[in-house]
Amino acid sequence: MNIHEYQAKQLLAKFGVPVSKGIACTTADEVGKAFTDLGVPLGVVKVQIHAGGRGKAGGVKLVRSADEAKKVAQGLFGKALVTHQTGPEGRVVKTIYVEAGSDIAREMYLAVVMDRSAQAPVIIAAAEGGMDIEELAAHKPAAIARHRVHPVKGVQGFQLRALCKHLGLSGEQAKAGSKLIQSLVTAFMALDCSLAEINPMIITKQGEVKALDAKMSFDDNALFRHKDVVECRDLNEEDPKEIEAKKFDLNYIALTGTSS
Ligand code: ADP
Ligand code: MG
Repeated sequence: MNIHEYQAKQLLAKFGVPVSKGIACTTADEVGKAFTDLGVPLGVVKVQIHAGGRGKAGGVKLVRSADEAKKVAQGLFGKALVTHQTGPEGRVVKTIYVEAGSDIAREMYLAVVMDRSAQAPVIIAAAEGGMDIEELAAHKPAAIARHRVHPVKGVQGFQLRALCKHLGLSGEQAKAGSKLIQSLVTAFMALDCSLAEINPMIITKQGEVKALDAKMSFDDNALFRHKDVVECRDLNEEDPKEIEAKKFDLNYIALTGTSS
């Protein structure tokens, strides 16, 4: 099961991952009011769909007033946003997250994924964020650092040091980066995630380290243990055939293409 960025950020914040303040909205009026309530000079209007690539597709927009926020939201609500992850039909925008804008100095990539063969989480990090990790893996595999998390000992100090070095973090930023990585792994394990991805993780011009985007996927077989995660389920985002199959406890994966 997948959840929205704003929900992932709320969950991650509970584990100590630094995120910006934001408000989830379902109408353009709410978006305008949210900008005012945030009380920041720069806001970001972010469509909430279960797909990445929103920025490039026009689903992430910087705004500087409540009016502008509302207008941008009017242009997005109810429309299908097509990103490289949605397929040609796109995803209809029903929720928009308004977030405080960050002054970005640098974007990085950080994720934790379950290594099925080793039955252990693996931390993946790259100093270049923002772009697709698949693209980076194809063109610059050496730019990606991987560290397996010990199932009993958890993340170890030497791994945090190596990861921060790889990310180009030192001093106070390495401290903050280590804490963020540790918090992400703790959340991953506690919530039975299959993926917890922060792309980008950023350093701001003020020197803060934080999660600017967040994607979390969960092991369906462990959902019964996590009521707070199940509450995040958004059936609008799930394939009706898969929802139907779940009622009968089947793992049905809808594939695109023509059936013969
Ligand atoms: P997606 O991965 O779906 O494109 P992101 O949340 O990663 O969406 O946003 C895309 C880009 O928009 C980021 O890489 C960042 O440059 C910018 N961005 C996103 N959120 C903020 C924010 N709160 N402040 C400033 N810039 C942002
Ligand atoms: Mg992103």
